[in-house]
Amino acid sequence: MNSKLKNSERLQIKQQKADSGLMSERYPNVASVIVAMNYYNGSSGQVIMQRTVNFFPNSNTYFKMECMKRDCIDGGFNLETVIAKMMKGRLKSGKGELVCAGKDSSGHARIDYKISIKYKDTSR
Ligand SMILES: [Zn+2]
Repeated sequence: MNSKLKNSERLQIKQQKADSGLMSERYPNVASVIVAMNYYNGSSGQVIMQRTVNFFPNSNTYFKMECMKRDCIDGGFNLETVIAKMMKGRLKSGKGELVCAGKDSSGHARIDYKISIKYKDTSR
């Protein structure tokens, strides 16, 4: 049953979130991360959902966005590397596209994203 699998996946995600650590600990110079996404269904150009996720110093550094398809197993959009790279180069904004990594049979969902990062003043 897919719903059972999805539930165990949710538990896993919960654990991964808890393990990812706080942003204030892993990235102490970052004040906020804002991820704005448009969700598309398969290859159609139609936006099915818009979503904005905010991260603050007291947030977990779990930058993997869940796939919105109900029958999608092990899917999602991992922005971890993109965001880590931006933070390293102290970039304030970035954008791109991702296709869901999940094993859903009915065509893959995709997103485009815009990321804005605010840094703390490190001059003091
Ligand atoms: Zn998916």
